[in-house]
Amino acid sequence: MLDIGCASWPFYDNRNIEIRFSIFKKRIFGLMRRCAKCILPDDFPNIKFDSNGVCNYCHEWDRKWSTFDYAKAERELVTIFDSAKAKKRRYDCLIPYSGGRDSSYVVYLCKNRYGLNPLVVTFNNLFMSQHAIQNIFNMSKILNVDHVMVTYKPDILMKMYRAMIKGGGEFCSICTTGINYVKIIYQKLFSIPLIISGTSTRVDEQSPFEVTSTHPLYVRRVLIKSGFFSDEINSLLIKRQYELSVFEKIRIKLFDTDYVQINLPDYIPWDNMEIQQVLENELGWETPHKHKDHIDCKFASIKYYLKNKQIPNFIFTQEKYSQLIRDRQMTRKEALKLLDKKIQNERYEPEAFDDFLNFFNLQRKDIDNKAGKSHLDYIAKDELAIKEGVLLKLMSTPWKIYKKLKH
Ligand SMILES: [Zn+2]
Repeated sequence: MLDIGCASWPFYDNRNIEIRFSIFKKRIFGLMRRCAKCILPDDFPNIKFDSNGVCNYCHEWDRKWSTFDYAKAERELVTIFDSAKAKKRRYDCLIPYSGGRDSSYVVYLCKNRYGLNPLVVTFNNLFMSQHAIQNIFNMSKILNVDHVMVTYKPDILMKMYRAMIKGGGEFCSICTTGINYVKIIYQKLFSIPLIISGTSTRVDEQSPFEVTSTHPLYVRRVLIKSGFFSDEINSLLIKRQYELSVFEKIRIKLFDTDYVQINLPDYIPWDNMEIQQVLENELGWETPHKHKDHIDCKFASIKYYLKNKQIPNFIFTQEKYSQLIRDRQMTRKEALKLLDKKIQNERYEPEAFDDFLNFFNLQRKDIDNKAGKSHLDYIAKDELAIKEGVLLKLMSTPWKIYKKLKH
């Protein structure tokens, strides 16, 4: 078994000291400070305020989005779609589909607005909500698209979830690993030229590395530490580009079909109210709560509860609200009011908590996480830098010529 020395990275301890000090400061002196534009607090990782009290995350967002030219972006999008259609493969694109709001809207737009022939794929994470399952059936029938649901060996998958909850204090990274697995397997199977997802860097929460990670290196290390064999891990975990050796990269470049991957919300407006209307009116879509995110996952509330065990008093939703404020879909006042409610609620166990423990056959002590263990115990930020081999760089031109000749 590989010993990766999980004792603690040095910055992990620093992080905890800083967070504890800031909570102490807030509780004793009431000195909590939030960005004057969004609602991110002063203990948010890497946050800096300008002289007007506006944070660097707001400035970053403005640089990318405040003068964004949607007309130009949509023209670019149509060019990408035309080039995918021109390849005349069995499917023009692959859409990873959870049955949730954003991915449902992606399928709708691709089929109805842009006339693509998609293959829609769902990873059965074993705890999809009834709403999600119903939405998936309705969507494929109404839009008349091919859909596959992939179930990976449930006994191994359950063991992986348990290992991750006990070792990393969360379960989302296993689900993300599964989604990536079905995406890549089906892209290869049908040589699909384009993968389209509904993740938005404009309005979705963008957690910095210090807060969350689902990186495969981290997943691999937790699973190895929990006693999984490499073969078992590799049967679900697909390596990302920067994890591949030069020879693996060469093999892929020579034998696999290239594909382009895009996030649809990076090209067109992504307005929550409009999306909701389209889904209800055109897709017979069902949701227990119109403004609730992640209705596709039965245990979404547990994700946030477990995060608070890693970082005390951390309210995940503040990132999402901050994005919506920047995009003018929510006012700061509304966000602060909702956040206040969340802070009250997150002190209590979520309703689904007993179900969650039973489902994964866990005890309360398994998720206590008093040490605040997280991905930071397994990976360091500077490990994620993309390292391109010199050999690969030298060979990039011959590859391009080879690819051109091949197609
Ligand atoms: Zn801000």
